Amino acid sequence: MKSDSAAGLYVHVPFCKGKCPYCDFYSITDPGAERRWARALIREGQGYRADFSAFDSLYLGGGTPSVLPDDLLAELLAGLDALRPFASESERTIECNPNDLSPERIECYRSLGFNRISLGIQSLDDTELAFLGRRHRRSDTLRALDWVRERGPNNLGIDLIYGFAGHSIARWRSTLEAVLRYQPQHLSCYQLTLADRTPFGRAAATGQPRLATPEEQADLFLFTAEFLGERGFLHYEVSNFARDSTYRCRHNLKYWSRAPYLGLGPAAHSHRDGVRWWNPASVEAYCRAVEVTGSAAAGREQLSSEQIRLEDLALGFRTREGVALEQLDPGAPRTQAAIAELLEAGLATLAAGRLRPTTRGFLVADGLSLLFVA
Ligand code: SF4
Repeated sequence: MKSDSAAGLYVHVPFCKGKCPYCDFYSITDPGAERRWARALIREGQGYRADFSAFDSLYLGGGTPSVLPDDLLAELLAGLDALRPFASESERTIECNPNDLSPERIECYRSLGFNRISLGIQSLDDTELAFLGRRHRRSDTLRALDWVRERGPNNLGIDLIYGFAGHSIARWRSTLEAVLRYQPQHLSCYQLTLADRTPFGRAAATGQPRLATPEEQADLFLFTAEFLGERGFLHYEVSNFARDSTYRCRHNLKYWSRAPYLGLGPAAHSHRDGVRWWNPASVEAYCRAVEVTGSAAAGREQLSSEQIRLEDLALGFRTREGVALEQLDPGAPRTQAAIAELLEAGLATLAAGRLRPTTRGFLVADGLSLLFVA
């Protein structure tokens, strides 16, 4: 059965020029399999033609999509566009690293129909960039921002990271002020987290500090919300800010509202009608599976109605939309007590039948839904 609402299409580009020591996303640094991967990806997409009738967002993420040669990207886009028609007002995003860009490459992205660039800046401080293991420096980024503003699509998203060891509000403020001069439509401000299997995770396990303290992280989070709020940004998800509601990332909203999306490529996840499936996190295993069977799905899960309810709560409390009261089992005594507790603590507001997290509520977003679980 096809889903009624238009779906999002995600493409995982599993190639990076180097690995950043904090990053837990799947990617490899050997570009040798790029063309094989692209062929497999189109073949995988063709296998889902009967399952998705339309897409209204395309998101190339990874990994680093901007490492792909322009001719290969053009081939890939032609194959994706042939899968299913994209709605006329589709959001089409490509994630880029600053030092992969050139004026010509940005024009190529426009000609391929990308109307949104998501630039992984992370910081504008060279010491911080070295600490984070990034390949670019402040000067690369400012030059790339100039090019994007001169030749790129109007819709610019910028990714930043804060909350690492030694990070101060003064330094964070100076990065925010500098990027705002380029008038981005969207900012994703991610708090650094540690995954065990990353070099940062392993260093932290041996006592080498990588993260700011929890108190410093909370201060940085609250500062970010206030600073960007005062400058007119809508804080619509824990880590995400948009110039106004039209610039919220339409593709990511699908994840948070459990709308249908198809993920193609190694390690990609998909969802439709309460069923989730995912691909292996290996370029070799992915390509081989698609070449042999036409599909790479390595696992599949049918969500129960209770799992769906709990996911709706967990995801809803991460967004400013919050959750509808009827999703909270309003008749249960536990529910009324939990709502009263959140309102009393200033962690949520109640209006128009919805319980919405406040900025302080966002600080503990992942714990809010647990109050409503038996
Ligand atoms: S942070 Fe980006 S560039 Fe760095 S390893 Fe991860 S995906 Fe690659």
